[in-house]
Amino acid sequence: MPLSDQDILVLFTPFAVLFGACIGSFLSVCIYRIPRDESIVKPRSHCPSCGKLIPWYFNIPVLSWLMLGGKCRYCKARISPRYLILEIFTALLFTVVWLQVFAGLTMPEDLTRAWLTHGNDLLAPPCWRYGLTPLLHPTLLPVYWLVLWGLILGTFVDLEHYILPDRVTIGGMVAGVVLSPLVPELHFTASWSTALIRSALGLAAGFGGLWLIAFLGEKAFKKEAMGFGDVKLMGAIGAFFGWKAVLFVLLSASLFGSVVGVVLIALRKRNLQGRIPFGPFLALGALLWMFWGRAILSAYMRFLLPPLA
Ligand SMILES: [Zn+2]
Repeated sequence: MPLSDQDILVLFTPFAVLFGACIGSFLSVCIYRIPRDESIVKPRSHCPSCGKLIPWYFNIPVLSWLMLGGKCRYCKARISPRYLILEIFTALLFTVVWLQVFAGLTMPEDLTRAWLTHGNDLLAPPCWRYGLTPLLHPTLLPVYWLVLWGLILGTFVDLEHYILPDRVTIGGMVAGVVLSPLVPELHFTASWSTALIRSALGLAAGFGGLWLIAFLGEKAFKKEAMGFGDVKLMGAIGAFFGWKAVLFVLLSASLFGSVVGVVLIALRKRNLQGRIPFGPFLALGALLWMFWGRAILSAYMRFLLPPLA
């Protein structure tokens, strides 16, 4: 008996939530250890205050923290709610991506074909399902999950240390170019060579575009306007999602960045010279693109060119 759409949803959603929570837990380790150049697999998790190893049954995402009341089992030192929040947040984002894949699975075939034929442009009919941009192939699930992992890791490391780890940025550029021909639906096409070209164009647009902005900014303000990490991160975003995503992410990140900057200045938390890392805003823009970008873009194009719609 074949599984109905509803069966698939009921069977797979808990797995996505659980897997996301586990990755969130792993991310806490990565966020702490990667900028300190420590191994992310050894040693096993231990309490930062008494050093005792945490047995696996107290290392279950979300549940352990709640069961132990946010305290170490042995020394009763407070465990930051950051761990809990990161686990819930990651579980949520991983579930949203799964829903995008499910939306793609249940998308009418002719619509899927129209999207794959027209690529990422206004000729493809608009489509929102469950309030999200559908993903056109199930193999996009691990790819999008991998990108989420990188974006969350980069965001939290940048907020704390003002750097973006090379594993995320250079790793992202390489992974984007390698994965694009393997999963061409990433670029709204069924052809591997088209996907590869779009990925290379995206990488060039992201890396080159931001490098140019950084270069001109440095000339104009006589100080570093943008970190090289941001340039590489934008290259990675382009390699995964193409040049239209680069424009979209750059615009939305600048918008978020200026809103937050103005608010912080108004609250007198930072003066105009203070540094606000740009990486988290790029990551937020990329997230927006992943979940809604394709749909926002087609709505915008139709708004600009109503006679064609
Ligand atoms: Zn302890």
